[in-house]
Amino acid sequence: MTKKSAIPLKTVRVVVPAPLDGAYDYLPPEESGLLDPGAIVEVPFGRRTMLGVVWGEGNGDVPAEKLKQILRVLPLPPVPETSRSFVDWVANYTLAPTGSVLKMLFGNETLVEPKKKDAFACPVFDPDCHQPSLNEEQHAAAKILSEEPQREKPRPILLDGVTGSGKTEVFCEAIASCLRQGKQALVLLPEIAMTSALIDRFAARFGARPVEWHSGLGNRQRRLHWQAIARGEAKFILGARSALFLPYPDLGLIVVDEEHEAAYKQEEGVIYHGRDMAVVRAHLGNIPIVLSSATPSLETLSNVRQGKYGAVVLHQRFGTAEMPAIDLVDMRKYKLAAHEFIAPPLLEGLRQTLATGQQAMLFLNRRGYAPLTLCRACGHRLQCPRCTAWLTQHKQSGRLHCHHCDYTMRLPEKCPSCGAADRFAACGPGVERIAEEVKTRLPEARLSVMASDTLDTPESAQALVDSMAKKEIDILIGTQIMAKGYHFPSLTLVGVIDADLGLSGGDPRASERTFQLLQQMAGRSGRGEEAGRVFLQTVSPDHAVMKAIVKGDRDAFMNLELAEREAFRLPPFWRLASLTVSGMNVNEVTTFAQNLARSAPAGDTFRVLGPAPAPFARLRNRFRYRLMIQAPRTVNLSATLRLWLKAIKIPRTLRLAIDIDPFSFL
Ligand code: ADP
Ligand code: ZN
Repeated sequence: MTKKSAIPLKTVRVVVPAPLDGAYDYLPPEESGLLDPGAIVEVPFGRRTMLGVVWGEGNGDVPAEKLKQILRVLPLPPVPETSRSFVDWVANYTLAPTGSVLKMLFGNETLVEPKKKDAFACPVFDPDCHQPSLNEEQHAAAKILSEEPQREKPRPILLDGVTGSGKTEVFCEAIASCLRQGKQALVLLPEIAMTSALIDRFAARFGARPVEWHSGLGNRQRRLHWQAIARGEAKFILGARSALFLPYPDLGLIVVDEEHEAAYKQEEGVIYHGRDMAVVRAHLGNIPIVLSSATPSLETLSNVRQGKYGAVVLHQRFGTAEMPAIDLVDMRKYKLAAHEFIAPPLLEGLRQTLATGQQAMLFLNRRGYAPLTLCRACGHRLQCPRCTAWLTQHKQSGRLHCHHCDYTMRLPEKCPSCGAADRFAACGPGVERIAEEVKTRLPEARLSVMASDTLDTPESAQALVDSMAKKEIDILIGTQIMAKGYHFPSLTLVGVIDADLGLSGGDPRASERTFQLLQQMAGRSGRGEEAGRVFLQTVSPDHAVMKAIVKGDRDAFMNLELAEREAFRLPPFWRLASLTVSGMNVNEVTTFAQNLARSAPAGDTFRVLGPAPAPFARLRNRFRYRLMIQAPRTVNLSATLRLWLKAIKIPRTLRLAIDIDPFSFL
């Protein structure tokens, strides 16, 4: 046997943005003796080359004769230590491969490499460009936010204020003080459709448009922005959750706007909650984070109660605007025709609104014309061939659409089951159908429909918002994307077609989400001079959620909900993880899921529920079975899961999705 190279080789570990755990050892490039940790390098990888990041000293686990050399070091600042720790932390917590998390830091491998022609005039922000005069309450709140960075250990702070109380103005003060220190400030938004309206406000406040980071940008723009952020030139960044992973050299503040939003949860690839990871990122960087919401999540409120988070509260709406009066419309009292969904009190409200030249919004969280189409002759329901879901009927396009997998088909002429012609009936309302009803009953009203499938770019959302602001629309009908922070001064009436939607079903967060959504919708009304009114149509006016909303009593709702969560061992008292097994063959899926459950570590603190079919038992042709893991907060759930799953071999034909702190239960 020949002895291996006797001279100790100085190697470095490099992580590449591929779905792989761990890092690989490489030799430094010839010309450089020393490599900074965090250096961005190009390495041979398999048969190709890849960009990667130097993570530290080599592990020594690659035999000397197999060691490859780093090809070159890119002319970029090294990825800062906090960013690397953050990647490790997220990978460790979510059980995602380190390389997959690094991929989010790169945004996309092609972005990292500067191109010759690239020139980006990075905007310069003036913290004092246009400072509004804050009212007393706002001033006090802004002071607390601006002083937090001076603490030795800044805490997350909840900025808790009713819609229209000026939360945005207040957190802008925190941004201003961050900019004055020359540090980078990041504002996260749950959805990109919301960016336009805020960008204009930020531009007015700071004299320049923030540097954006989200999937709506083209590749060139993304590259320029990535470079400017990584070099620390971009000081004010507005982005979607993915912006959290960028390699900020000098991040001084994070703001999570609408922190309660479910859209912060990424459900595919690396499964993580943007708000929670933002709190982690702030902690690792020892910087303050502001969580802003009119309807904070139960988790955040509970953290405030326990003293882990600070809180500042804005009680009043800015100026003269009052919170609207909320009326429940008890739908059991009215006999509506099968194709009608607007009860007399709401219709009367709409008439009055039109008569006085004000605007109204009708809210229904269902896209299309009808959520279900059935055959009147045989009762057959038109279902997605790939999912356990009904097909939504879209009348305008004459098509049926699955909103889970994007499957679409023409509405057939004959029933596929019994062959009867022209016997299809649309069941239940979608926003298109509500528009149709309003058109027949209030023909003089100018309508517009706002749903995520009609507004998929920030520009189209902005166009609609503009035309609403110019009062070219009398009644805006839409899904929950309307609940977002838009401000329409002449909007005085909000009608919620089905306030019960969301209260049913086995989702432990249903009540919370309904409470938040209805509060947000109520918050859209009466933000100007005129008082607002809200009608909630419900068949359960005695439900605790409805009562709490009418009274505007969040504490009462919270106490009820927290007691329930505790009794059922749910977050924030217990920790949850879901393991979803999916595959094309149902027997294979169930067998594997059952074996997985059997192999769970024993112990009385760690409970495994299931496997049971997921609520969407079939999605995009894949069958889905789920295990729920419940553990006390004292258990390190990620570590326990990792240990357990290490011994499990997942067949190539199956997929196992691990979701720590699941948010949606579909
Ligand atoms: P929130 O974010 O809490 O919903 P906003 O910050 O959007 O509230 O404020 C609601 C409206 O009131 C906006 O049009 C905003 O410009 C205005 N406003 C709030 N505070 C002030 C202030 N101090 N000076 C001027 N306008 C303000
Ligand atoms: Zn489908």
